[in-house]
Amino acid sequence: RAKSDGRGSYQFYAPEMDDRLQRRRMLELDLRAADFDKEFELVFQPIVNLQSKQVAVVEALLRWPGCQRGQIRPDEFIPIAESTGLIVQLGAWVLERACREAIKLPGSINVAVNLSPGQFRRGNIVDTVANVLKLTGLAPERLELEITESLLLGDNKETLLALNRLHALGVKISLDDFGTGYSSLSYLRNFPVDKVKIDRTFIAEIAGNRDHWAIVSAIVNLSHALEMTTVAEGIETEEQLLIVRATGCDAVQGHFFSPPMSVAQLRRYLEDQRAKLTLA
Ligand code: C2E
Ligand code: MG
Ligand code: MG
Ligand code: MG
Repeated sequence: RAKSDGRGSYQFYAPEMDDRLQRRRMLELDLRAADFDKEFELVFQPIVNLQSKQVAVVEALLRWPGCQRGQIRPDEFIPIAESTGLIVQLGAWVLERACREAIKLPGSINVAVNLSPGQFRRGNIVDTVANVLKLTGLAPERLELEITESLLLGDNKETLLALNRLHALGVKISLDDFGTGYSSLSYLRNFPVDKVKIDRTFIAEIAGNRDHWAIVSAIVNLSHALEMTTVAEGIETEEQLLIVRATGCDAVQGHFFSPPMSVAQLRRYLEDQRAKLTLA
């Protein structure tokens, strides 16, 4: 601990920084000791296809309700899992749980699972996915793996090989949060990407910002030209939905339809949707 002379002139770091490091260290210990089955849960958010107007996919999102330190978002604990390597075990747990839930859902709704770069770099993601599919009996076509652009950066032949092998299993690959990184769709052509998920920052201001509208339109058109489909994330209003639909985007996700839900809530939601369709 650095000493202060009381006037602050010898303080080497801000106390807030110390708190954050402390919290991070504690969370890291909690994560190492965690019994995943007891402490973690998956919630599911519907992704609606704009052509069929039906829920085509549900995205599995990880929650840690058993954490002793109160509510903690994945944006905080996933990076810790990533930096400690625990993401390999935690990510495998998510995959298995998501596939087990998907197989119990009505209809043939797909399930989307987020993957971290660490699962590629430190784990054997191809075998993990193949084993989970065998174990749960989920048809590979019903599993969609969401990766981010950061995974594709640099010249990594290993990643390309793993993605090609995953694709050969029959699973779909989606590119999450598209537009926030070093996005280049033509560069993406080298990777087996089926879907592009347009980041919600573009959707948030699409109604009032012509540039954002232009970017979304361009992503949709170029994706289609390259035979990829598109999903708009973070739809919160009807206005955003109408604008996005007019760009030709294939599917939508966001609080306007539903926030992420427990499996029980999701079942009820899907039943309600079906009832509405038969009434319509
Ligand atoms: P993501 O994959 O981009 O997931 C979408 C995030 O946007 C989720 O946050 C979701 O709750 C939120 N969201 C959905 N609709 C709306 C909306 O209309 N408005 C707003 N403001 N937000 C919306 P969440 O669940 O907190 O997850 C954050 C991120 O954490 C995810 O972003 C993903 O990158 C990561 N994550 C979550 N679960 C997992 C997991 O199982 N494995 C890995 N590797 N990462 C995960
Ligand atoms: Mg995602
Ligand atoms: Mg996303
Ligand atoms: Mg995101």
